[in-house]
Amino acid sequence: MSTGSWRRSNPGEGCKDFFRIAIPAEAGIQRLAPREQGPRSRGSRTASILELPWYGRGGAKSLGSRLRGNDGIIILRIETGKSITIIGAGLAGALLAILLARRGWRVDVYEKRGDPRVKGYEGGRSINLALAERGRNALRHADADDEVMKQAVMMRGRMVHSLDGRQQLQRYGRDDSEVIWSIHRGDLNIVLLDLAQQAGAHLHFHQRLDAVEFEARNARFVDDRDGSSHSVDFTALVGADGAGSSLRAAMMRQHDLGERTDFLDHSYKELEIPPAADGGFQIEPNALHIWPRGRYMCIALPNDEKTFTFTAFLPNLGEPSFASVKTGTEARALFERDFPDAIALIPELEQDWERNPPGLLATLTLDRWHLQGRAVLLGDGAHAMVPFHGQGMNCAFEDCVVLARKLEAHTDLTEAFAAFEAERKPNASAIQQMALENYLEMRDRVDDPDFLLQRDLEQQLQERHPGRFVPHYTMVTFMLIPYATALLRSDIQREILVEATRGLDSLANVDWQAVDAQVLARLDVLVDAA
Ligand SMILES: Cc1cc2nc3c(=O)[nH]c(=O)nc-3n(C[C@H](O)[C@H](O)[C@H](O)COP(=O)(O)OP(=O)(O)OC[C@H]3O[C@@H](n4cnc5c(N)ncnc54)[C@H](O)[C@@H]3O)c2cc1C
Repeated sequence: MSTGSWRRSNPGEGCKDFFRIAIPAEAGIQRLAPREQGPRSRGSRTASILELPWYGRGGAKSLGSRLRGNDGIIILRIETGKSITIIGAGLAGALLAILLARRGWRVDVYEKRGDPRVKGYEGGRSINLALAERGRNALRHADADDEVMKQAVMMRGRMVHSLDGRQQLQRYGRDDSEVIWSIHRGDLNIVLLDLAQQAGAHLHFHQRLDAVEFEARNARFVDDRDGSSHSVDFTALVGADGAGSSLRAAMMRQHDLGERTDFLDHSYKELEIPPAADGGFQIEPNALHIWPRGRYMCIALPNDEKTFTFTAFLPNLGEPSFASVKTGTEARALFERDFPDAIALIPELEQDWERNPPGLLATLTLDRWHLQGRAVLLGDGAHAMVPFHGQGMNCAFEDCVVLARKLEAHTDLTEAFAAFEAERKPNASAIQQMALENYLEMRDRVDDPDFLLQRDLEQQLQERHPGRFVPHYTMVTFMLIPYATALLRSDIQREILVEATRGLDSLANVDWQAVDAQVLARLDVLVDAA
């Protein structure tokens, strides 16, 4: 364990955000491993003063940091005495583990699956995800953004595929500073797990949460490989165990959380577009491809190994639907009629269609996310949403940053969890609503003349009223303002756009004076929360 002494630098010394740690010269510190870039060493091969990041206030904070010396590894660790048990080492669980371990918490993470770094990723759902500014901002808090972005593929906009084979790129933002990124779910999870472990979190795989005794603060975990179980005492549990959260179910047995699940009457099925014969991408890589067909649609997101994850969203019943299109032959017939340009891209269409079961889509809401100071839910466990705004993970990552902040601001866990819920619940509810609305836009409106005209006007108003008229997609995707604010302003803006373009087929006859007056009267200048 640690040698040396530490003290926090005075602000007057110009490095208030760092600890200074005196290391005995005999430690022979040569350099810091590249992935442990946080600490900065002063001096040459035998640094005697190190500066390490200060991750917060109140209580001694952990600065678990591994420094390579001539004679092995020195671990410096300053514990706070605070501990937390996270259920689920998926996206949110792993990110929260980094944030809290770095703040000096003892963090234990229990995951029902095996370690994806050891035996290959077993995640069965969406293979790649759209990462936007909110998610990236949270990753920056964990110093994970650079590593994650090495594997991300830029998506500049929607590439809309018409039935006649025409393609049209609708940019998401003004330029390449306003784009989203496609990232492989498994790769992202692995980066976060590595960082969580480096930060000192204790990861326990093959440990499924089975039962909780909240009064006794004791949880039982089962290893599904052999059915063995063991119990663990905890201070507080965080449910990062996804839409089907076992912790939520255990909390519900203790207290009615007011759970409601609204299933969408549409589901999804994933297929794959492999690389081209020359090893490159088969279609434009820097776009999110959409085949909008009114009541249903397909999309495709690029992967860095030059494949695309192709997802079909269809109704559960009716024609066509997952009930009417079951066999590979029926799928081919549907594609020949509605998605002809996609057929050649998916050589295993029939096999994939029959092999991959449809995934359900739902919106989960709860009246309450926490149980006194004993348990709290976040991410999909608290507010699963339909995926049409590409924000579920981004929102879950924002949750992690806010929860870590609340845990730092409140020593009392009940207060911290209540403050977390108060800040995040209205925002989760807003993005859930916007995600549902975006399905209509993607499948039915992106090639509609009214929509395209309103979109043109939206861009013009953005130019005429910078910072005041900010397009809906920009507010949700490229900014950090609360989702609830984005929803409120989007509703006002939509009214202005619909009113101003009513009965028009071009912007030539827009009553600019009236529109400008509406914008000035109804919208304040928007300040980002960044
Ligand atoms: C088709 C589809 C496309 C999507 N696309 C996007 C997108 O483009 N962008 C975006 O931001 N979001 C997207 N999402 C949403 C995103 O996948 C989720 O919001 C995100 O995964 C939530 O993270 P989480 O950590 O809360 O839950 P999860 O990622 O589901 O992680 C939960 C973890 O808990 C573990 N676990 C479960 N039960 C237990 C238990 N009893 N004990 C221990 N461990 C347990 C699981 O094994 C898993 O590792 C999409 C979702 C779908 C379905």
